[in-house]
Amino acid sequence: MQCRACGNEERASEGYPCHGCGTFICQVCSMKGVTLCRRCAARNEVQAPWNG
Ligand SMILES: [Zn+2]
Ligand SMILES: [Zn+2]
Repeated sequence: MQCRACGNEERASEGYPCHGCGTFICQVCSMKGVTLCRRCAARNEVQAPWNG
């Protein structure tokens, strides 16, 4: 499957679902602390009252 955060093609069994929409996030991104796909991350930035 294609990681929706970095765009790399990775095994689905070695990734995690996006916390926002459940789409595939690869293990590499997850290890970097990425829990949201690009779309959800962008949306999350706009409406993050806890940020900062
Ligand atoms: Zn990735
Ligand atoms: Zn998402």
